Amino acid sequence: MPHVSRRLDLLLVPESPTHEIPATAWQAMVDVGLFADDGTPADAEGLPSFARARLDRAGPTIYGNQQGGFSVRCPVTDEPVVSRLGGALAAWREGGAPTLACVCGEQHALEALRYRPPAAAGMNALVFADVDAYVLDNPARGHLARILGPFRLIPRRVS
Ligand SMILES: [Zn+2]
Repeated sequence: MPHVSRRLDLLLVPESPTHEIPATAWQAMVDVGLFADDGTPADAEGLPSFARARLDRAGPTIYGNQQGGFSVRCPVTDEPVVSRLGGALAAWREGGAPTLACVCGEQHALEALRYRPPAAAGMNALVFADVDAYVLDNPARGHLARILGPFRLIPRRVS
């Protein structure tokens, strides 16, 4: 029987794909008790159980499940555009805007595309590795919104 991955990560990706999480954010999150300085849990209220927190600075990327069945669609016509995503990412990495030249003729912001399962374009993300649930409640959510700015919550199954 094929093994189904049980490891789940919870990612917080800034809503604006070009937003860089400031270098001071890590210490600010430690200071309000979200986790210890090495990223291990500190029994913060509102967070799921997790193994480790870390800041991922991948540079321009799409955060999310990219295993079988990943789909990306035009927000206007709902046509599949996944074949154009690689080119859009490459152009962004080379200094272009985070947009996709769509089959419908428009330029779409990468964050406007429809991703299934949910995904988000970004430069960096806060990753809670090996969570037991996709939940984020106050007061942890409030602390994170204040420190990171507006973010999207992206679940990721890790193989
Ligand atoms: Zn389109």
